[in-house]
Amino acid sequence: MKVLVINCGSSSLKYQVIDSETEQVQAKGLCERIGIDGRLIYQPTGGEKEVTEAPMPTHTEAIQMVLDALVNEKSGILKSLDEVDAIGHRVLHGGAKITQSCVIDDEVIKVIEECCDLGPLHNPANLKGIYACQRLMPGKPNVAVFDTAFHQTMPTKAFMYGIPYEYYEKYHIRKYGFHGTSHSFVSKETIKFLNLDPDNSRVIVCHLGNGSSISAVKDSKCVDTSMGLTPLEGLVMGTRSGDIDPAVVEYICNKEGKTVSEMLNILNKKSGVYGLTKGLSSDFRDLEAASNEGNKLAEDALDIFSYRVAKTVGSYVAAMNGVDAIAFTAGIGENDPGVRAKVCSYLGYLGIKLDEEKNGTRGQKLVISAADSAKLVAVVPTNEELAIMQETVALVK
Ligand code: AMP
Repeated sequence: MKVLVINCGSSSLKYQVIDSETEQVQAKGLCERIGIDGRLIYQPTGGEKEVTEAPMPTHTEAIQMVLDALVNEKSGILKSLDEVDAIGHRVLHGGAKITQSCVIDDEVIKVIEECCDLGPLHNPANLKGIYACQRLMPGKPNVAVFDTAFHQTMPTKAFMYGIPYEYYEKYHIRKYGFHGTSHSFVSKETIKFLNLDPDNSRVIVCHLGNGSSISAVKDSKCVDTSMGLTPLEGLVMGTRSGDIDPAVVEYICNKEGKTVSEMLNILNKKSGVYGLTKGLSSDFRDLEAASNEGNKLAEDALDIFSYRVAKTVGSYVAAMNGVDAIAFTAGIGENDPGVRAKVCSYLGYLGIKLDEEKNGTRGQKLVISAADSAKLVAVVPTNEELAIMQETVALVK
């Protein structure tokens, strides 16, 4: 089967066409500046990257351009759109009603619409992508793969906030968690790779990228995760603050005459390691370079980030009454040996020891703990598009 995987943001969309038999990507790319002017990037595997500037007033025109590129006589990878068997959509928020990926029908669309309040930046964009595909490829099955679904197995004690119960009843305020596709994929890969028992294992997945989150996965089910009602909770991230005392919001609002939504914008976009380094960078490559040159703020930011990761890992060891393996994934988790070493140095009390040489290797599936380490530590690359393709095929086959 050939699956078109679509990940829609508010003004951009990423896409891939993946062959399910070979699991090979046949073409990929993105549309940028949707609703502003419009740019299509199209990269057929083994071919030349093409960049086309053209107006894309809405997601429908953007997806139409992707489809045109895919069947283009010169560089297209498909003879006709009939070759696309299904479309898999990444959807941010499925609330408490959706616990797994679903074939999209009116009922699923209704739930995604209801969850727009909880994911105001992403859910409306995800819906636009779904509507556009339904319009442009009528009759093809569309599947929604939710960022929140994997975390729906969390017990009440993990997902409830200590606030009046009425807010849970009235507005469904609770922890949902995100990056679920990645946590699900990487925890399964880790269990297979390390020969653990899917029904009797405790795995902690550290998804460390621009957005970062950690999950505790017991017997293949998520029992806790660091992001919350929104992706702002938890770790210190590229530009997001992660956990802070909520009273900080009122304090700064009063001191600086800001509104709550202005403060939330600062906590989402101007905080994290970016804010901690006075705007130096949110990219860990820049922070590692600056730290190596003696920049104290960059050195501290890397330490603050790693310390929070280690504290969260420690709390998940407590949540699962132990741990068998810790997996690092995503941009930083896969590529930054410095962060991995720092995090693991804080976990020495668990008997964790890294193999320095193996930890120096980048971007491949590898056990990086030393032979005499009490726990297994591994780098396990994530692949959210592949996971979305697999979920889609499983549902439409
Ligand atoms: P992601 O959100 O998973 O795509 O991760 C993107 C982030 O990964 C970037 O912003 C960088 O901070 C980080 N990253 C990518 N490559 C490296 C690298 N070689 N060393 C350190 N950090 C990296």
